[in-house]
Amino acid sequence: MIDFGYGLTPSSAIDLDKMDRTHFEILIRREPDVLKCMACGSCAASCTAGVYTTMNLRKGILLLSRGQEKSALEQFRSCMLCGKCQLVCPRGINTRNLILSILKTYSIQ
Ligand code: SF4
Ligand code: SF4
Repeated sequence: MIDFGYGLTPSSAIDLDKMDRTHFEILIRREPDVLKCMACGSCAASCTAGVYTTMNLRKGILLLSRGQEKSALEQFRSCMLCGKCQLVCPRGINTRNLILSILKTYSIQ
């Protein structure tokens, strides 16, 4: 086989019908506002913790909604609950409340 110096990366396609969304359904009951998120990214752009860490609320919500919990949860440990994201969210989501509900639902210590 010829070595071109690069290779194909595995497909990142996911089958949503096969993802386990049990925790996300609990989160929706606890914090229905999570469904208002339109993934605009304003929260991530203004995030205090995002400057120094991987904290990205937009990405976190998206991953949780897809059942990709492992990838999503680590970043939430970095949140300082400063509330800046709440000030810029165009959907008026109480993001601090949402983040606390995520921590509770997924039992992050
Ligand atoms: S509350 Fe958390 S997610 Fe929102 S801006 Fe502050 S550190 Fe970032
Ligand atoms: S600012 Fe609000 S609507 Fe936009 S991605 Fe963040 S939580 Fe979702």
